[in-house]
Amino acid sequence: MDRNLVEQIERRRASIIGFLASLVRAESSNPPGDTRKVADLIASRLREASVDFQVLADEPRKPNVIARLGSGHPELLFTTHMDTVPAGNPKAWRHEPFSAEVVGTRMHGRGSADAKASLAGMVAALEVLRQALPLRGTLTLTAVSDEEVGGVKGTEYLVDRGLLQPDQVVVGEITENRLATAEKGVLWLRITTHGRAAHASTPWEGSNAISHMLRVLSAIEQRVGTRLRTLTHPLVPPPSLSIGTIRGGVATNVVPDWCEVTIDRRTLPNERIPEAVAEVERVIADLQREDAGIQADVEVLQAGPPIETRHDAPLVRTAQAVARELDLSTELVGYHQASDGRFFAERGTPTLLFGPGDPELAHTPNESVDVNEVVAAAKFYALLGLRTLSDVGERR
Ligand SMILES: [Zn+2]
Repeated sequence: MDRNLVEQIERRRASIIGFLASLVRAESSNPPGDTRKVADLIASRLREASVDFQVLADEPRKPNVIARLGSGHPELLFTTHMDTVPAGNPKAWRHEPFSAEVVGTRMHGRGSADAKASLAGMVAALEVLRQALPLRGTLTLTAVSDEEVGGVKGTEYLVDRGLLQPDQVVVGEITENRLATAEKGVLWLRITTHGRAAHASTPWEGSNAISHMLRVLSAIEQRVGTRLRTLTHPLVPPPSLSIGTIRGGVATNVVPDWCEVTIDRRTLPNERIPEAVAEVERVIADLQREDAGIQADVEVLQAGPPIETRHDAPLVRTAQAVARELDLSTELVGYHQASDGRFFAERGTPTLLFGPGDPELAHTPNESVDVNEVVAAAKFYALLGLRTLSDVGERR
């Protein structure tokens, strides 16, 4: 049965690569994020394979495809995205970014790896698993829009509407077909200091919001920055804090009554977002105890929790067994970008990232993918689906 599944994928090699090429040619740059052509291609492929699916959209140009095999729990979710980052300057590309040109074993083009390669692999897995019915539980595939700009119209929309309640999640992302179980969190903060305006010739009559901000920033960099330099995690790069923007003041000869900065803070998988916010607030509160003149507020602009899936989770163990069988790496790694997996990990759902493509090439001109890696990923998804959702999966 299992060998059969792998062989079926192998037999579909040309069809999988051809499907990936059509996905790349269906431009879906975000912004503007119009993924309708990609969704149509997936829909016709699913229809041909008699896989049930629905299309849900908060915004018509940004549809989300949800396909299901089987019913009930356990539910394994395969999720990946249809949108891509824009191609940028076409002159920087050696191959036309939406031509899906294949040279040797590499297919070139925007989205060829991130994440249309995963998409092609996951759809192929559903096609062959459709024949392996009945499954124990449900295998769900979501091909979402909007991932590259935060997921509001994509995964967040589906999760908020209660449409996805998976027990285990595999995110199709560019991990070079390695098993990633950890991802850093992202926190964007805005700090605003308030002062009192005055003529710059008599600054003592005012209260300078920019001067206050300088003290706030140097205290944050010193206290938070110093502590972060002592933290490490085995699977992801160190945590970080970076001041991204600063604005304030109206004229050189006016004492500013307002200053604003935004800060990008990346948390380790084992840090908690609320604690990262509280730490900044504590630094400011301590400064205010020294100088009651400092007025500052902290606002959370965006928070994406980290992912950390236990290595003894059944999903991870099954994935390692499948990887071993397919001669893929069984080493657990970290994912260095941010993914939609956070929407599930946040709720305690075991989440794994796996997919073809080198993250170094994604989001850059000359993105490309090795087509053999795409076929290998399809085999991995298919076998993982089978092992997780059949009685064979019980045997360890
Ligand atoms: Zn991606």
